[in-house]
Amino acid sequence: MIKNNIINRNFCPVCKVEDNIILYECLFTEYPVKEYLTRFYSTQGGVELNYLENAKYILCKCNNCDLVYQKEILSEALMERLYENWINPVLVFEAQKMLPISHYASWAQEIFQIMSYIKKIPSEIRFFDFGMGWGKWLLVAKAFGCNVFGCELSESRIQYAESNGITMISYDEISEQQFDFINASQVFEHISCPTETLQYLVKALKFGGLIKISVPTARNISRRIKKMDWDAPKGSKYSLNPVAPLEHINYFKRETLISMASMAGLQEIKIPLTTQYQFSTNWKGIRHIVKNLIYPIINKLDKSNNEIIFLKYK
Ligand SMILES: [Zn+2]
Repeated sequence: MIKNNIINRNFCPVCKVEDNIILYECLFTEYPVKEYLTRFYSTQGGVELNYLENAKYILCKCNNCDLVYQKEILSEALMERLYENWINPVLVFEAQKMLPISHYASWAQEIFQIMSYIKKIPSEIRFFDFGMGWGKWLLVAKAFGCNVFGCELSESRIQYAESNGITMISYDEISEQQFDFINASQVFEHISCPTETLQYLVKALKFGGLIKISVPTARNISRRIKKMDWDAPKGSKYSLNPVAPLEHINYFKRETLISMASMAGLQEIKIPLTTQYQFSTNWKGIRHIVKNLIYPIINKLDKSNNEIIFLKYK
C-alpha cells in the first residue's frame, strides 16, 4: 500500500462511540469490490487500484447511533485525486448537461419556498452551497437576484463557478461568514468527520437561518447489506450505491441525521403546506399534478426521508 493513502476510523464519526459491528469486509483489490470499482469508474475516468493495495472496504454499524460507515477511507489528498482524476470533470460536466428543464424548475420552486419562509426579498438573502459541484443550484438563486456563495474542493468546478459570478470561499473562510441559508445536498455521506463539519457550518448560519441536508435514502438498507448484490444497478431495489465504496462513506438513518443536527444546535422544520403549494411548478400531465398535490403531504408524514431542513435556534 502506498503510505498515508488510507485513514482508519476506529470509532463512529457521528457519536464517537467505538462499539460497532462489522457488516461486511473485503479488500478493495479483490473480488467482488475490485470488479465493482473497475466497472463503476470505467465510464467516468478510471480507478487506480494501486493506490488501494492492502486497504479494505469495511462496512460497520454503530451500536449507539445506527450510523452505517466505512472504516477505512481515503486520505484528503487521495480523495481529491478521486474527484479530479478517477472521476473526469469533463465527462461529468457533459453528463449533467442532460438535466431536464424540470430539474431547474424544482430548484426555483425550492428557492422561492425558502425565501418565503425566511421572509426576505432576494437582494437581502445570502445563500451558501457547501460542496456546490458546478454551482448550478446557486446560479438559479443568482438569477433571482440573491447573493450567492459556494465552497468546493474541485479546482475545475471552482473555476467554472467563478467564471459565472459565484463568490467562492475557502473552507477556512466559512466561519467568518453569516448566511441565511446553507445548502448541503448529497455532501454529508462523503465527509470523514460529519459532526465536526456540521458544527463548523452552523457557525456561519444566522440565528433563525436554515440549513438543508440531503443524503441518500434507502428504506431497505438492512436487506441491501444482507444481500450485498454488487451487480445491482444504481437506482434498483438492492443497489449498493448508498454505501458505495470510497465515496458514500456514511449512511444515515433519518434519526441519526436528526440527532447529529441536534448536537449542532439545530431542529427540524417543515415548510408550511400552503407555501409549498404556492410555489409549485411543473403541472404538466396527470403524474406531475398528482405528485405536486400529494408529495408535500407524504413528505410531512414520511419518517425515513433523508432530505431535511433544519433551523438554527440557539
Ligand atoms: Zn454512532
